[in-house]
Amino acid sequence: MSITETSLKNGSQNGTATNGTSPNGSVAHGASCAGDAQLVKQSILKLKPYVPGKPIEEVKRELGLPDDFQMLKLASNENLLGPSPAALQAMRDAAENVWLYPDDTCFELKNALAEFWNLTPAHFSIGNGSDEIIHFLSLAFLDSARGDEVIFASPSFVQYQAAALHADCAFHAVPLTSDYRHDLPAMKAKINENTRLIFICNPNNPTGTVISRTEFEEFLVGLPSHLVVVLDEAYYEYVDNDFDSPNGIDYIYDHNVISLHTFSKAYALAGTRIGYGVARPELIAFVNQVRGPFNVNMIAQAGALAGIADQAHIESSVSVNAAGRLQLQKAFEELGLEYVPSQGNFVLVNVGVDSASIFTPLLKQGVIVRTGTPFGLNNWLRVTVGTEEMNYRFISALREVLSVS
Ligand code: PMP
Repeated sequence: MSITETSLKNGSQNGTATNGTSPNGSVAHGASCAGDAQLVKQSILKLKPYVPGKPIEEVKRELGLPDDFQMLKLASNENLLGPSPAALQAMRDAAENVWLYPDDTCFELKNALAEFWNLTPAHFSIGNGSDEIIHFLSLAFLDSARGDEVIFASPSFVQYQAAALHADCAFHAVPLTSDYRHDLPAMKAKINENTRLIFICNPNNPTGTVISRTEFEEFLVGLPSHLVVVLDEAYYEYVDNDFDSPNGIDYIYDHNVISLHTFSKAYALAGTRIGYGVARPELIAFVNQVRGPFNVNMIAQAGALAGIADQAHIESSVSVNAAGRLQLQKAFEELGLEYVPSQGNFVLVNVGVDSASIFTPLLKQGVIVRTGTPFGLNNWLRVTVGTEEMNYRFISALREVLSVS
């Protein structure tokens, strides 16, 4: 049991329990000690560890399935088509040089991104996944001594809350609207003189809903200059072109807006860990200031660089995803299941029972999905969109598990 679990179970968040200590207060060597909880920053005790989608090998081990059993993982919003062949080749080539440190400045990648977005290299901060950029935002902007606060939606991506807790700052988790969209007016109403960061996830994970350009522009009107709006656009590429959703980069000059992007989704480089933040140079410089040396590895830089150059691969991934999204949504309609129309590479569906109860039966059918439990959506499953065949396999498994004829 972790320190957090122990201390919380004992009802002690300030670590006053005495397990593992002798009467004179000395700690037995190797003993687990709930009193350890007093060593850490107290806000850390409120952090729930991130629960990732289960890796395929772990599921096979747990269920005793043979190595050649074909599992289908639709749990982590990865791109099931895999990366561009050019990116794979570039990464193989880069592997020859791994005895060297990577380029700490990400020179070539920043130049390629600058060309792609029509900006300059100084507009970017590159991270070990966009998760790391979120962590940098916490380090760079949040100051608990100053009383800083954070605003984000709920349910939304869990790392926004982690960013606040890492910095020991208060946060407002503002419920989504009844149609599972960001309630921007309600979020705006939470702004006060202490607000420092506001996270908007667009499309939102786990609901796949988007905000409109007009809604975002109305939200920006009259915002005070003491806060930064973070538009997390991890699923940006998947939004239908005819959908009038904002591109965060359009707002970086006139507002304190930071746009987050990742190579983990449409670019299918999740395993290499690479993402980036974009803002006007003066603002992003603060983010780069807290970056550790060599934070982005050489393989990731090479894969991302070649990935940007192969936009045809992105286009085909996006169109396979758009068709798959419709396929899943149509199947849910046929099954009489409520779902949230999605603009991401995943769909949230209400299975009408506690989704944890069908998680293992689905695993036994060879399909790994994500329950809505970590998001407080107990009857919901979040399923990643795959190819037509993969989606079909998931739908058949779901039909079987729910015993719908
Ligand atoms: N933002 C959102 C909304 C996400 O869903 C994820 C990953 N699930 C991330 C950021 C982090 O992505 P990565 O660290 O792989 O770039």
